[in-house]
Amino acid sequence: MNDLPPPARAIRPLPSELADQIAAGEVVERPASAVKELVENALDAGATRLTVEIEHGGQALIRVTDNGAGIAADELPLAVTRHATSKIATFHDLLRVNSFGFRGEALASIGSVSLLRMVSRVGHAEAAAIAVEHGRIGPLAPAALGQGTVVEVRDLFAAVPARLKFLKSEATEARRCQEAVERMALARLDAGFVFKNGGRTVFRFAPDQPLQGRLAALWPPAVCEGMLSFDRSRDSMRVHGLAGSPQKAQGRADRMLFYVNGRAVQDRVLASAAREAYKGRLLAREYPQVVAFIELPAEEVDVNVHPAKAEVRFRDEQAVFRLVRQTLLDALEATGPALYADAGRSPGEASTAADAVAGWRPRTPTELGIAGQRSLPVSPRFPAYAEYLRDAESHDAAEGEAAAPHPDAPAQAQRGPVIHEPPVPPPPSPRPAVVAAPADAPQLSAGPRYLGQIADTYLLLELPDGTLGILDQHAAHERVLYAAMRSRGRSGQSQPLALPLDLSLHPAQAARLDELREELAALGFALAREGQRLRVTAVPPSLSAGEAREYLEAALSGQNASLEELWVLMSCKTALKAGVPLARDEALRLLEAWLAAPDRSYCPHGRPALVRLGPAELERLFKRR
Ligand code: ADP
Ligand code: MG
Repeated sequence: MNDLPPPARAIRPLPSELADQIAAGEVVERPASAVKELVENALDAGATRLTVEIEHGGQALIRVTDNGAGIAADELPLAVTRHATSKIATFHDLLRVNSFGFRGEALASIGSVSLLRMVSRVGHAEAAAIAVEHGRIGPLAPAALGQGTVVEVRDLFAAVPARLKFLKSEATEARRCQEAVERMALARLDAGFVFKNGGRTVFRFAPDQPLQGRLAALWPPAVCEGMLSFDRSRDSMRVHGLAGSPQKAQGRADRMLFYVNGRAVQDRVLASAAREAYKGRLLAREYPQVVAFIELPAEEVDVNVHPAKAEVRFRDEQAVFRLVRQTLLDALEATGPALYADAGRSPGEASTAADAVAGWRPRTPTELGIAGQRSLPVSPRFPAYAEYLRDAESHDAAEGEAAAPHPDAPAQAQRGPVIHEPPVPPPPSPRPAVVAAPADAPQLSAGPRYLGQIADTYLLLELPDGTLGILDQHAAHERVLYAAMRSRGRSGQSQPLALPLDLSLHPAQAARLDELREELAALGFALAREGQRLRVTAVPPSLSAGEAREYLEAALSGQNASLEELWVLMSCKTALKAGVPLARDEALRLLEAWLAAPDRSYCPHGRPALVRLGPAELERLFKRR
């Protein structure tokens, strides 16, 4: 008996109030969504001044006041009726929507879950008011109002416990309301916006403010200073906006703002285009900071795919992706410490250097290596670098002055002025931290002048624009090797080991090996698996046996998902380390190779390779101003 199913329920149409609430659940799920709908309505009505006030996280009150076209008194009841809209009339219109709203349901939805009151006036006509109490539309009433429309929403969700339950704290809901207004304010620079919370003015944007100015009120100065503007059109598409300097990247993902035809959207295609563009310039936990506006013909994008219109669908996703990624890539390349660039630097680069200076402190004599004698490697071994030198030499052996030294030649035997003191024998007296180059130190073809090496780690440069550049030799060399690996791709050059290496494999490593096998062979490893052992008989020529073991262990431990990541790891393992003295010619070679590498401002992990100190930063350091 107990197994019998419960009696079937009759199928009935939902009472209209309930249907309203269900729909409201989609469009208006929290105070911020109501704020967004009301502000969009005001903008659709051509408002140029908007004030948004909230109380208690928007639950007690949301009031939006605008100076837009207003609603004629006899149309007020229609405005709060579901599926009544002035914005589209035919299906054809739906295919080319150019207003924020088009479904005619926001006011009805909000009115079904709150006490809504709307006062509006068109031109010189009398103002009128209408109220909606939990879905019941009241009578029209005369009212007083100068211009435009005021919509007040009180006690939002007070009668919908199911909705209330999902709301977060008052502070959180208030922040969401604020963010909703901020996002729209960034897209509508022509309009002025005031946002008040609990009677307090949180922000006030004048009409016709530049994007940079609005952003500066919303994002921290450290982020805003380095931003680069971009603007590019291709075919009928345009993308423009501001991109944060990778040096200013932070560990928060919420500063990627995308707009499609003025509408704020969350979009996977756009987000991945931005991430791709910043790839190799950010640390793992950092995110791009971008505000990007994409404009394209209305029929190229479907805005009718999401209840809150927060997502769109592009007809040609690929084209959008490519344009956004390439535009950002080019903008970022321009931020780079563009050594070739002339005086026209963006303000961001100056602040970058300023930040570098902020972290600066005088180094102790020990750090500078001038207190005692250091034990330096007698013959520093950086095979990949030596290999690079050999290559370079065979290409331009006839260059005289700048010719590369034989990689095995001791530093002091090279031609030309030796900037760095020879590491062996150790200098009897403390050596100066920086040995200045003679005044006639030759220029590289690209322009920067090499001044010397400091702390056996940094190359000092005078850049063509008169700033001081400090290049991290490890990061720079990593970039060079990475670029070479990239362009060589899977050459698979291999060097047999006299004594094969034996590694024991954990089961997880064995599985990983199966996945990576092809990539490792492409890099030059010859591997034979014998049960839980791995025998390595040949390695890439740039790795010693010890480095090869270290590299393989890291690769098999599973952190490196792609060939690209293997290249990053390999370039890090084989690059010239910090603390290796470089002869002048070696330094020049490295510099030249680095100047030719793409994305040279960062090492493949995204750390900066070059820090610049401009005259302004130097003046600040010396407290001249
Ligand atoms: P939609 O925006 O999709 O048309 P709404 O329910 O948001 O639907 O608004 C219904 C109609 O009310 C709009 O089409 C518009 O004509 C009118 N309206 C709403 N808010 C305003 C406003 N602030 N100023 C002028 N007209 C408005
Ligand atoms: Mg609307």
